[in-house]
Amino acid sequence: MGSFVDDILADVKATNPAEPEFHQAVHEVLESLEPVLEQRPEYRRHKIVERMVEPERVIMFRVPWVDDSGAVQVNRGFRIEMNSAIGPYKGGLRFHPSVTLGILKFLAFEQVFKNALTTLPMGGGKGGSDFDPKGKSDTEVMRFCQSFMSELQRHIGPDTDVPAGDIGVGGREIGYLFGQYKRLRNEFTGVLTGKGLNWGGSLIRPEATGYGSVYFAAEMAATRGETLEDKACLVSGSGNVAQFTTEKILQLGGKVVTLSDSSGSIYDEAGIDAEKLEFVKRLKNERRGRIKEYVEQYPDAVYSAENPEDDHNPIWDHPADCAFPSATQNEINGKDAANLLARGVWLVSEGANMPTTLEGVDAFSSAGILFAPGKAANAGGVATSGLEMTQNSMRLAWSRTEVDGKLHGIMREIHRACLTTSEQFGAPGDYVLGANIAGFIKVADAMIDQGVV
Ligand code: NAP
Repeated sequence: MGSFVDDILADVKATNPAEPEFHQAVHEVLESLEPVLEQRPEYRRHKIVERMVEPERVIMFRVPWVDDSGAVQVNRGFRIEMNSAIGPYKGGLRFHPSVTLGILKFLAFEQVFKNALTTLPMGGGKGGSDFDPKGKSDTEVMRFCQSFMSELQRHIGPDTDVPAGDIGVGGREIGYLFGQYKRLRNEFTGVLTGKGLNWGGSLIRPEATGYGSVYFAAEMAATRGETLEDKACLVSGSGNVAQFTTEKILQLGGKVVTLSDSSGSIYDEAGIDAEKLEFVKRLKNERRGRIKEYVEQYPDAVYSAENPEDDHNPIWDHPADCAFPSATQNEINGKDAANLLARGVWLVSEGANMPTTLEGVDAFSSAGILFAPGKAANAGGVATSGLEMTQNSMRLAWSRTEVDGKLHGIMREIHRACLTTSEQFGAPGDYVLGANIAGFIKVADAMIDQGVV
């Protein structure tokens, strides 16, 4: 079996050169599929794995736009329609200068398994652009979004492909994208999620990824008779996921001592309380400032600038119980994982997608700590997007309590599915294996039912 998985991985590397993040995501999933491929030979006969690593469709396009000085700018746009076996393609759009085809393919691949875990009928996709919204005016962002949607609109639709936000795409960008779709298609439909509340959005959608990651962590802690109360937590990032992860940890009585952005991180030993979190939300969502300004406001906190020469990230080198990486991919390497373990961390819940390198994942699993992979821990965001789609189809809006209750129930169910699957396949408590196999079986069985397409 080892050689089957090795052969597929070698093939993926040869046919998708220069896409290391995609190779990494495929490697992590394939490693844990061995027991199910052994037990269910039909998956190999139907070439399910070979089909899953090949996107159903990749759209790549030019996005020309005019900046405030009148100069023409050109970016590249993408949409990866990875797998539609269990529902319309669904997954976010990322606007960040680091976006490449390989980054979006890794995200789309992860999304397929994540969406299957939510229990909702959603296939997997991802898209975005190398456009950097940082430092751009609102009108520049609007013109970019309008140009991006002018091409994307012909490929998406409420029953075909329903994008959402991700890094660099929040409420402002979703608004501009939705406006342009509606204008070109003359349709008011739920073609995007993460919409504003008074034009089809869902309560709790902004909170959902962060809240869900903490609900998942609380479920894991409960398996060891623990809660998050009084626990010291390291959170990275300071965007959507990090803000609402912090908010939910505070509500459950925990203490958050770090946050970061792509320039550096802050450590506040006294804890980031509700008032300090409000400051961070205004800083990041309204003033669009840098996390460094936190220490100007709260001088007892310490700021460490990001140093790409360093072999480790200082944010992961503080005493703590739990870590919630919520910024970006590969932000915890092998050294960072060793530091976290040495500092006493016994629970890691990945709010970001693939924030831990393969060496880091190995270190956590050898240490036997509670480790939730992103495709399980951060699935609350897409699950609540699914709930937004349901409300749009019914032309109804549920209350905050109702949506939060459904989100909490879905996170409990994902936790249960990961745990029971890990037990069934001989690796009790291995959430990586549990998440990968549970997601895989649902998609694989649907693919077999639907024939060779
Ligand atoms: P966001 O609001 O744009 O925030 C991203 C945060 O991460 C910012 O603080 C950003 O810093 C930091 N960051 C981005 N790139 C970085 C880099 N290369 N190095 C260090 N820091 C970096 O995005 P988000 O929605 O919170 O997404 C965060 C993560 O969660 C991503 O991995 C995303 O795929 C994942 N996720 C998001 C959702 C969702 O519903 N939003 C759902 C599932 C998973 P700057 O301010 O300097 O850019």
